[in-house]
Formats: sequence, C-alpha cells, structure tokens
Amino acid sequence: MKRFLSITISVLILAFVTACGNNTQAVSESEETKVTAEEPVSATEEVDTVKESVASEASAKASEEDTEESGMEESEEEDMATPAKLLYQGHASIRITTAEGKVIYVDPFMGEGYNLPADLILMTHGHYDHTQTDLIQSKNPDCETIKWTKALEGGKHQTFDFGYVKVEAVEAGYNKNHNVKDCVGYILTFSDGVTLYLSGDTSTTPQMSELADRNLDYAFFCCDGVYNMDMNEAIECAKTVGAKHNIPYHMVPSSNSNGFDLKVAESFDVPGKMVVAAGEEIELK
Ligand SMILES: [Zn+2]
Repeated sequence: MKRFLSITISVLILAFVTACGNNTQAVSESEETKVTAEEPVSATEEVDTVKESVASEASAKASEEDTEESGMEESEEEDMATPAKLLYQGHASIRITTAEGKVIYVDPFMGEGYNLPADLILMTHGHYDHTQTDLIQSKNPDCETIKWTKALEGGKHQTFDFGYVKVEAVEAGYNKNHNVKDCVGYILTFSDGVTLYLSGDTSTTPQMSELADRNLDYAFFCCDGVYNMDMNEAIECAKTVGAKHNIPYHMVPSSNSNGFDLKVAESFDVPGKMVVAAGEEIELK
C-alpha cells in the first residue's frame, strides 16, 4: 500500500512539474492552458490529501501506541501490590490494612478507627494503655491475637508468619517502669518486603544496634520521658537503628486527649523524620 502511494505521489508530482514546465510562459487565456493549469492544483491537492492521510494514519497509530503504552503502565501499576496503609490512632495505637486487605491492630487504646474487623491483634505488654481490645468492634473468624506472653513464649522472642505479614517479637521493656520479660517490640514484614519496627515501651535495648543491619523502612519510637525514654534518648535510638523513616509515638502521658503532641513530635530531630499526627493514615512503601 505504501509503495503504491509513493508511486502515485511520484507520478502526480511528475505531472505537476511537467504541467508547470509546459505553462510557464503560457499564463494564458487559452482554455487548454486553463485546463492544464488546473491539473497541478488538483495534483497538489491530491498529494496534500495523501500526505494528510499518511500523517493522520501515522498519528493515529502513534496515539494507539501511546494508549497501549499508558494502558500497560497502568496495568503494571495495578499489578504491583498496593502498599499497606497505617492509621496512627494516637499514643501507641496503630491500625494497619495490608495489601491483602487484612487488618492488624497494635496496642489498642487511643483514637478512632476500630470499626474494621480484625485479622490480627498485637499487644506489646500488659499495661492498660496498650490492651483495650474491647474497642475493636469485630473480629474475623480466624483472627489471631498475640500478647506479649505468646511473643515471649519459653523466654524467647518468637516469630509468627501469617503470609500477609511476618511478625517478629523484639526486645523492649528496658526501663524501671517495665520488665524485659513482659514487654516486646515488633518488627512487621509485609508481603511486599516493606518493614516496620514498633519499639513498644522501652528505653534503649541491646538489640537496637543489631537492627541497623536490617535496613528497616519505618520505625516508631516511644519518647514520652515519663514512663519511657525521653526525646533525646529516642533520637539516639533512631540513629542507632537507622531506619529510612522515623516516627515518634507514645510521646505524652496517656491522659492527653488524643495521645499526640505536634510540638513534641516536631522535636524528634533525626534523619528520615516523619511526623504522623493522630488520626493520620500513611502508606507503607
Ligand atoms: Zn505505654
């Protein structure tokens, strides 16, 4: 088809050149000349038409390709797992919705957002500001609950693999208000490999320096300075662990209305600082 068009174009151009040549001197009144002179106009028109049609064909194809490409990009994006979402409810209370739609609650106590049926409930220790499971309005039939006792079964930090998340208990409780034998922190690894460390209630733990090798993505550090380490120590811990994103939590005594203080949060001066307000939901990616 292209070859035929190009031959047609060549013939038409030749006809145009010939006609022009014939009539250069005869810009005349003769009927014949007028007729001949019209030819190149129509030839030009035809060439233009052909050009236009070729051009429009090409642009249609290009836009088709564009559509295909952008369609591919979209479907590729859709294929990639949706990141888990983390709702910071305040104090040490966190709700996570995984890419698979599983709902995990950690240390239920503060804030809103207990309406989604639970698939997994994690608690770091037995204090009342971490254990208000009655707030959770419903549980899915196979909902699992992991308390500090189960996380420390046999005196060892346990790991639980649920497929949609791997839960590792880690050291916590290193201060006078807590007991290392009754307190854990958690590292959660989601199905897309994103990792989240929750310090639990503690001051510096010996394990924190080992965690640096893990290249963790997100890390929450308590920093209230009353029941746990203060802000300066939390900053040092965050630097030691060296996660990509560092977020302060459990920052004020739990009598505070929503368990969050922006001024305190802003003073968490570490690389990769992230301030997540109570009631705010972030994507873990
Ligand atoms: Zn606490």
